[in-house]
Amino acid sequence: VDAEVEQPFQPVLAIDLGGTQIRTAVITPDHAVHARRAVLTQDQEGVDAVVGRICDLAAQTRDAAQADGLPAAIGIGISSPGPLNPWRGLVVAPPNLRGWRDVPLADRVAESLDLPAFLERDTNVAVKAEWHYGAARGTQHAIYVTISTGIGGGIIVDGRPLLGPDGTAGEVGHITVELDGPLCGDGKPGHAEAIGAGAGIAREARALLERGGSERLAALAAEGERVDAALVARAADEGDEACRAILDRAWSAIGAMCASLVNVLNPEVIVLGGSIAEHRPRVRETVKQEIERRAFATPAKRVRIEMAALGDDVSLIGSLPIVNERIGDPAYRREPADRLSSAHRGGANAP
Ligand SMILES: [Zn+2]
Repeated sequence: VDAEVEQPFQPVLAIDLGGTQIRTAVITPDHAVHARRAVLTQDQEGVDAVVGRICDLAAQTRDAAQADGLPAAIGIGISSPGPLNPWRGLVVAPPNLRGWRDVPLADRVAESLDLPAFLERDTNVAVKAEWHYGAARGTQHAIYVTISTGIGGGIIVDGRPLLGPDGTAGEVGHITVELDGPLCGDGKPGHAEAIGAGAGIAREARALLERGGSERLAALAAEGERVDAALVARAADEGDEACRAILDRAWSAIGAMCASLVNVLNPEVIVLGGSIAEHRPRVRETVKQEIERRAFATPAKRVRIEMAALGDDVSLIGSLPIVNERIGDPAYRREPADRLSSAHRGGANAP
């Protein structure tokens, strides 16, 4: 589906639920962001408190947009950490939201604001934003990779988002790059995320300190600095070879992951986003080198490696196409009865 030939989109109310903060905005058809609001998530207060905060903040944004004379939103898009079920609107069990298990977030938000609501994994929202309006624009085969504490991803194949039957496709950070490598946050060995992202870099830095391998890092840590990826990067920038080696290995793991994606999916573009990619341009160069080294020549020559264009707003802006495309799609329709009887009917996404 080519974005250029579609009917113009209608404004939507966008909600970005993160482990740290909740953000809301109205997105107009020109993908501009209006009436922004943000509040801390505070998941330690429990699911109901967080859902209440989400609904309150979304209502504030809706009212502010109305007061500014913006046209009314036709629906609500909710970006959330996965795993989740986009058809039933359920947040399944995200590791960074304590106590959340099969929460019918889309229905609760829809009832509170009296608008249809659609739920999607944050990285799938992001890839839609970069694909329609950002660095992957004009392509039919695109991958978005976000690198921060962990590594997330979203994939467009033949002009369509790759969701899989359970909505879990696109978790590129959990590609194995080292058979017996360090354990990932999900407890499994050798995933790219365990080596290439912030938590893995911090783990290697602590191990380096324990064996007395970096005087510079030890000095920074002794000043009370938190031992994290940013501190490793600072020590590396100040000339510390051991810290530089940790980062080089991290970027190589991301590069190997991308090379596998190039071989499997033949993308036109891989878009790199997230806090680490934004601040470390060397990631991009290393990814290019690893693709050249590890991928087949033809798809390696094809693929472009681009930095994300829309920053943190991807998880808000992506709701514009998602809501507009799903609002008439029977796969995403949830009647009130489905909430009570979906277990007997095979789920709301059943035909
Ligand atoms: Zn993993």
